[in-house]
Amino acid sequence: MSVAYVNGAFRPLASAGVHIEDRGFQFGDAIYEVWSVRDGRLLDVAGHLARLARSLRETRIRAPMPDASLMIVVRETMRRNHVRDGLVYLQISRGAAPRDHGFPPDSVKPTIVITAKSMNRRELDRRAEIGVKVVTVPEQRWARCDIKSVNLLPNVLAKQQAREAGAFEAWFVDSDGVVLEGTSSNAWIVDAQGRLRTQPLSNRILHGVTRAALGRIAAEHQMRVDETPFTVAEAQAAREAFISSATNPAIAVVAIDSKPIGDGKPGPVARALRDYYLGALAAKG
Ligand code: PLP
Repeated sequence: MSVAYVNGAFRPLASAGVHIEDRGFQFGDAIYEVWSVRDGRLLDVAGHLARLARSLRETRIRAPMPDASLMIVVRETMRRNHVRDGLVYLQISRGAAPRDHGFPPDSVKPTIVITAKSMNRRELDRRAEIGVKVVTVPEQRWARCDIKSVNLLPNVLAKQQAREAGAFEAWFVDSDGVVLEGTSSNAWIVDAQGRLRTQPLSNRILHGVTRAALGRIAAEHQMRVDETPFTVAEAQAAREAFISSATNPAIAVVAIDSKPIGDGKPGPVARALRDYYLGALAAKG
């Protein structure tokens, strides 16, 4: 039976819930974090904890417990759900209180929910082998995309648009044609000079934990990383393109708006980065 951790107790997933006046539900006044699990190990614990702390700080939501306790509960949620390959989700809202936009009194405790689900490892690996298609959509999100908040409506609508177009991901593109990031992944290309390019860190993109890890790994392997923006046209003319997220580290993009990238097959750089990433993190535990 799947279970969820909700405010201090494990409950059957099917009947677990939060208060209808929870601010996450009423206002989207909540943040979240996601860990990938491979071979029973959580990947990049420290990277995700650092981003969680930042999301809480920027939204002024109190941490419900210290990191050490949080990781005990995260691992216990994984264990109780028998997850060896999959994901752990953590949501923290500002708590439940009578509806009022301003913050509730300090006596209102943040709400915490942790869930874990298994994913089919072979399916994920197969996705890496064949690559994915991407469509582009106009950027229509707010000016703090660096906060991992649960306000994901533009992302939801864009992902659905991608699905309906037979694509896996949608890339948000600004009014100058510059690619920002995907609905749930960062965007990369390998340009004609062989440089790895990705949107620089700012309030316009989520600071992907996998993006940071791939940047470090690329540098360790003498690959040139250039955090300069690229346009849709540049991406379509690139040697390679790929996406990165905890679930999909370095997955090749084989077409953008139906235009094949390179020879239309995953390229060597994305493949090498993925192998290095999974190897390095699995070794660390
Ligand atoms: N960008 C967005 C909008 C995301 O939602 C995500 C992950 O969910 C990412 C990028 C990739 O972040 P990470 O590598 O930390 O999973």
